[in-house]
Amino acid sequence: MDESTPTLRIAISGAGIAGLAAAISLRRLPGVVVNLYEQAAAFREIGASIGIGPNGLRTLEKLGVHNALREGVCVRQKGRHHQVYRHWQTGEILDYDTHRAVTDPLHATARFHRAHLHAALLEHVPVDTIHLGKRTTRVATTDDGVVLFFSDGTSASADLLVGADGLHSSVRKWFVPQHKLHWTGWVAMRSTFDESLLDGVDFPHDAAHWVAPHRSFFHGRLGHGQFTTVGGFTVDPSNPPDTYKNVHWNDEGSLQRLRDLYKGWHPTVQSLLEKTPYTRLYPNMAGDPLDTWVYGNGRVALIGDAAHTHGGAFAAGGSLAIDDAYALLLALQHVWPQQPDTRPTPAQVYHALRLFEATRRPHVAKVMALARHQIIGKLAPGEKAKEPEVEETAESSVDDHEKLLAFIKSRPDTAWINEHDVEASFRAVVEAEASRVERDRLPQSQL
Ligand SMILES: Cc1cc2nc3c(=O)[nH]c(=O)nc-3n(C[C@H](O)[C@H](O)[C@H](O)COP(=O)(O)OP(=O)(O)OC[C@H]3O[C@@H](n4cnc5c(N)ncnc54)[C@H](O)[C@@H]3O)c2cc1C
Repeated sequence: MDESTPTLRIAISGAGIAGLAAAISLRRLPGVVVNLYEQAAAFREIGASIGIGPNGLRTLEKLGVHNALREGVCVRQKGRHHQVYRHWQTGEILDYDTHRAVTDPLHATARFHRAHLHAALLEHVPVDTIHLGKRTTRVATTDDGVVLFFSDGTSASADLLVGADGLHSSVRKWFVPQHKLHWTGWVAMRSTFDESLLDGVDFPHDAAHWVAPHRSFFHGRLGHGQFTTVGGFTVDPSNPPDTYKNVHWNDEGSLQRLRDLYKGWHPTVQSLLEKTPYTRLYPNMAGDPLDTWVYGNGRVALIGDAAHTHGGAFAAGGSLAIDDAYALLLALQHVWPQQPDTRPTPAQVYHALRLFEATRRPHVAKVMALARHQIIGKLAPGEKAKEPEVEETAESSVDDHEKLLAFIKSRPDTAWINEHDVEASFRAVVEAEASRVERDRLPQSQL
């Protein structure tokens, strides 16, 4: 095989967080050629804040993406707690989330504007491997590979396709047309803006969730001097008020409505909202877990939001996507002994995808089950989510305070999500496979 012949051609549909992390990971394999096909004609600064937990940050570090971990590109809490829960009316700290096993401060949860995290990843991917304006519409698998067809009438072929095209993934729709997303009824109202707009406002340094019985508010610093405010509300998705019947992701929201939702809240919350210059709406969509993430005769794998439509729960989507990408690299490295001139066989590629899936899908299924439980658990039996009027404006009683405290204290511990060790998971999967193989080799009489 001559040196210019790739050992494996990998196409990635979607150049978001998962797609770029996959490109960075898979380009480490010798002789592999990676191309990304992204529907957007250009990368624009849309979106708002994104949090990356210790799991995602450790993985980025292993991948050499040190620029993303730098303070200033992102922001971490000054205090020891990566999440702070405050009483909506008094501002009293009700509880904290603290990392369990994070010794390096660089691995503590970091908050970014999504566009800045994206830009940091982009620095590690050669521009000429990213093909913009390429919206995948369908996929064909052939005996010797896979072909992607784009909406502009062109196509591209590869040995392996990674579907990293997000929540509304076309690759997923192609292979699992029956999979449906549904609106959970939650609509986030998000804004990011320059922190200098808050001159004169007195607010705590560390990001916090302000919690009321029916609603919460989040504020926090992001990298590059940005600041975010996140409010929101829940309606009955099967019967939303007219205003929200046709709400779309990134639609302009009403600032007045946002401020009205938080009337009677602590003066800090109201001042932050007074200074918030705009708000955009993000209806929260989720779907059931998939039975598999591997399709197309073992030549197609889904990663990131394409694979797990978990509805953004626990702010885990970015880190899950990064860990998916890394697991794919670990699996390919494991099954494919890389001499410079060897191509992996289709059976090896399929084997790698199975190991990848066994590493990631059970973990993500647990995350999705908890997310589902959280949404359902917030409602009384038989109760449907409805849009609450601004009932929190009443003075809260001691009893309300106790209930709120009990509610916060009963939240699930999510350290197993944001401190998950993808490498340890992968090792466990490989060991389990090795013992299975060993057992299968033993004659029945010895079992
Ligand atoms: C523009 C944008 C802004 C976001 N803002 C936030 C935010 O503020 N906060 C937050 O927590 N999460 C945000 N998300 C979601 C968040 O990035 C993901 O939940 C998480 O990072 C997992 O990343 P992902 O790469 O799987 O999905 P995404 O980040 O959604 O990336 C998917 C990529 O695939 C592309 N794509 C989609 N369909 C096709 C197709 N058919 N063919 C080719 N390419 C396709 C998309 O344009 C996108 O670049 C945003 C996503 C996008 C696309």
